[in-house]
Amino acid sequence: GASANLQPLDASKLIFTKTQTPMAVPEPGDPIIATSSQCTDHMITAVWDSTVGWHAPKLQPYGNLSLPPTASVLHYATECFEGMKMYRGYDGKLRLFRPDANCKRMLVSATRISLPAFDPSELEKLIKAMIAIDGPKWLPKSRPGTSLYLRPTMIGSAGALGVSTPKEATLFVISTFMPNLSKPKGLRLLASQNGIRAWPGGFGYAKVGANYGPSLMANGEAISRGYDQVLWLLNGMVTEAGASNFFVVWRTREGVIQLVTAPLEDKIILDGVTRRSILQLARERLTIEVVERAYTMDEIVDAIKEKRMIEAFAAGTAYFVCPVSAINYRDQDWQIPMNQGDSGDYAALIKSWLMNIMYGRDEHEWGVVV
Ligand code: PMP
Repeated sequence: GASANLQPLDASKLIFTKTQTPMAVPEPGDPIIATSSQCTDHMITAVWDSTVGWHAPKLQPYGNLSLPPTASVLHYATECFEGMKMYRGYDGKLRLFRPDANCKRMLVSATRISLPAFDPSELEKLIKAMIAIDGPKWLPKSRPGTSLYLRPTMIGSAGALGVSTPKEATLFVISTFMPNLSKPKGLRLLASQNGIRAWPGGFGYAKVGANYGPSLMANGEAISRGYDQVLWLLNGMVTEAGASNFFVVWRTREGVIQLVTAPLEDKIILDGVTRRSILQLARERLTIEVVERAYTMDEIVDAIKEKRMIEAFAAGTAYFVCPVSAINYRDQDWQIPMNQGDSGDYAALIKSWLMNIMYGRDEHEWGVVV
């Protein structure tokens, strides 16, 4: 067919246009950092159209996009994105954490909203090319243990109304600072009662913008009631917390300690890179049982009542491993133990394992030096 002749995404064709007006890197503590709006000097862009396929990607100065008001993304939410970080290691090296996983997930998300396919390893090469230019300046060697957020994005950029598969798409990669949102006293979650994030047969497993805008109302309600994030339930089943995967550690009535999280099969939750890494490390390094299964808020309440709850935490790239101290369910606050004061033991241990890989204290194949 015609599509067989379309050009594939090809990082080796990258065209470099360096900025003539480099920006100043904010000092630690600069209020701009908390706004997540300060991007680095450059961005990657790549345009696809249905006759040529992928045009040569560009590395160019960070700047506004130009879109027709009829662009598909502005009407039909043809948008997907990724969230990953580059880390400045204690050994002075720059690393990505499992970038192949993010690039593959980006393809899954793009496919779900009929945006064009690409070879995930080409996207990974483009991301690395951007880091090679902006990383050394924006994540200086003098600041080991810090990170910058990367946001690969794809949008339907074709200018044509009508609900149809976009004939043009634009891929871009930008990078920004991300504030540290961890709470010394743990996250307080409000279990959703009036809203559902994702449902069977939907698109909860895809990192598409359409999953996030509609979640803001419930999140706003949680914040106005004094909570940090929503714990998303579906028919009483626990799915995710805010934009993070959610884990509990409890003791079963038979006395077995388990790390439990919602399963992927139902395609309701995002296949978090942090989630799968935690599960794998826990299976390799801990003696507790690691369980991926559907479980309910009522089971959590029972475990708390019966003093079998050990701890709970949320996990994702942006805010990392965040211990949870309370869950409000049906207008009642349920306290979750945090036996180190600011964390439970398992969350603290798992967090340290991941940080050691990200910041190069532990040589591991997941820590990819750029
Ligand atoms: N769930 C949702 C809904 C998310 O948006 C994210 C953030 N990408 C996560 C979970 C965590 O995924 P990851 O560990 O890959 O950041």
